[in-house]
Amino acid sequence: MIKPRLRQQLAELTAIPSISCTMPEQDMSNVPVIETLANWFESAGFICEIMPVAPGKANLIAVRAGTDPQAQGGLVLAGHSDTVPFDQNLWKNDPFSMTERNGKLYGLGMADMKGFFALILDAVANYARTPFRAPLIVIATCDEETSMAGARALMEQSKGQGRFVLIGEPTNLKPARLHKGVMLERVVITGKSGHSSDPELGRNAIDAMHEVVNRLQQFRTSLKNIQQPLFPVPYPTLNLGCIHGGDNPNRICGLCELQFDVRPLPGMEIENIRADIRHLLKGIEQQFGVSMLYEPATAGSGAAETPANSPFVQKIEGLLGETAGAVSFGTEAPYFRAQNMDTVILGPGNIEQAHQPDEYLEIKNISPMLLLLNQLIHYYCVQGNARL
Ligand SMILES: [Zn+2]
Repeated sequence: MIKPRLRQQLAELTAIPSISCTMPEQDMSNVPVIETLANWFESAGFICEIMPVAPGKANLIAVRAGTDPQAQGGLVLAGHSDTVPFDQNLWKNDPFSMTERNGKLYGLGMADMKGFFALILDAVANYARTPFRAPLIVIATCDEETSMAGARALMEQSKGQGRFVLIGEPTNLKPARLHKGVMLERVVITGKSGHSSDPELGRNAIDAMHEVVNRLQQFRTSLKNIQQPLFPVPYPTLNLGCIHGGDNPNRICGLCELQFDVRPLPGMEIENIRADIRHLLKGIEQQFGVSMLYEPATAGSGAAETPANSPFVQKIEGLLGETAGAVSFGTEAPYFRAQNMDTVILGPGNIEQAHQPDEYLEIKNISPMLLLLNQLIHYYCVQGNARL
């Protein structure tokens, strides 16, 4: 059974579109979701700040203060308010109209992850008349699915800080304390086209790119020496994703572009990996008489790890009777880790349903998630165990 108010708020959040997309024609404002959440959290006794990030994009920082003047820490419950785009033809129902079927609540963002905010509201309602010693901070970001601009803005302005952060991304109620990062990179080789009958008439960009690919494959082999056994794929990966170049078999190829990704393990810095790649590609321009551009295709997002001996990790492991592991997707955790906040990723949805048609939240996962939120709020905010 879900309480009528929780069901109503889940349905309302689903009904407010907040798609973020790298293609501008599909990108939407998330402000209507943020304003709705701000109203609800204000009614629940929170002080809300709507933090503009970009035109039409904003974060919410909602704080219910603690009474203990020493307690500047507090518990942060964090998530993103945007969703990915959807494929209309593949959905059985309207993605913006929450539908219950076979113990599941269907709707865009139900698992990933607007639904999390309605669960937080249900949990805090139990503490409406209970004073907090340490603050409870709720954060809803923008643009997690594209640029992570919301989380980055929080970090840059040192806003929404607390001692511990639970990120309600879909993990099917399993705690996770680490994930890999992702970098999307491109190499563009500009040579000189010419008639294929005389190789001296041009500079072949494909020949040069062949050498780039060789060296990246060697780099990929060396990455296997770095291992973190908690991941199903325990080493950093490098995937050659797409390559485009040339136009005709009888012309020397003048332009070739390669895109690849690298998924670093926690502890590997994106900028260091880029420096390594830049170094290993040295000499190719001179060898082939071409010019080469190597650059990130997007800003990328870092890996993150909270140590196994963190008190927050151990508290959650104790409550659930389960050891925190690794997830295979990226989150906003690196931005919280950069501010020294212990971070655990745990939510009621399942990542298998995220970014898919007919995304759903299993009703049976709602009660255990509410129980955990209540336990965390009681321990950290009411009892005040989240002091700095
Ligand atoms: Zn997500």
